[in-house]
Amino acid sequence: MMMRRDPAGLGMTSQRARDRMVEQLRTLGIQNPRVLDVMRNLSRHLFVDEGLEVRAYENSPLPIGQGQTISQPYIVARMTEHVVAANPRKVLEIGTGSGYQAAVLSYLVPQVYSVERIESLLRNARRRFRSIGIENIRTRHDDGRRGWPEEAPFDAIIVTAAGEYIDPLLAEQLAPGGVLIAPVGPQGGEQKLMRVTRDADGLHESMLEPVSFVPLLGGRI
Ligand code: SAH
Repeated sequence: MMMRRDPAGLGMTSQRARDRMVEQLRTLGIQNPRVLDVMRNLSRHLFVDEGLEVRAYENSPLPIGQGQTISQPYIVARMTEHVVAANPRKVLEIGTGSGYQAAVLSYLVPQVYSVERIESLLRNARRRFRSIGIENIRTRHDDGRRGWPEEAPFDAIIVTAAGEYIDPLLAEQLAPGGVLIAPVGPQGGEQKLMRVTRDADGLHESMLEPVSFVPLLGGRI
């Protein structure tokens, strides 16, 4: 009897698709070779809903249930580049979602913390981390707008949902020399990716590029 070892039919297509995705990221200006390597090797198709696996290496966001999306590979790559530039040991992510962004970071940073307000998404993300063998991500089911004060300070903080502003209580959880990357702006309106750094003089904010994220919401469900 013939065995089907690759039920989703991803095999070679997947390797070609991954290479193509990385080429696209390069064209869009992603340069960090470690980030590109991690994104080539990490199986994004394990982080999307059943039936969408064949689209996993397209440069687009995809639905993950509960009205949420796994971010576009370009934006994951860009935000990751900004984070690793600070050479962090300890990173906090707000908005675990599918877990893909946290998984990418887990190969580049010793310790990742990630907070998600929707329990069912978090459960799926944890299952993915376990099945891939990732052990350096700690997760928490909570409203992450105020960060994870018990574990602060962090060398980097990455927010993957758009708020109206950057909460000062979150920025305060940055270690000296740390960097916070967050989309800011109204839903369906103009959102900008912001970068906040902390040095001896305090906090400094700069604008990076226009983006489009799902909203940062209050409470947990
Ligand atoms: N980083 C995710 C992107 C998911 S979309 C990935 O790689 O798949 C953004 C996520 O932020 C959603 O899952 C949403 O539920 C979550 N979110 C929104 N507001 C939040 C809040 N206040 N605290 C924690 N998570 C939040």
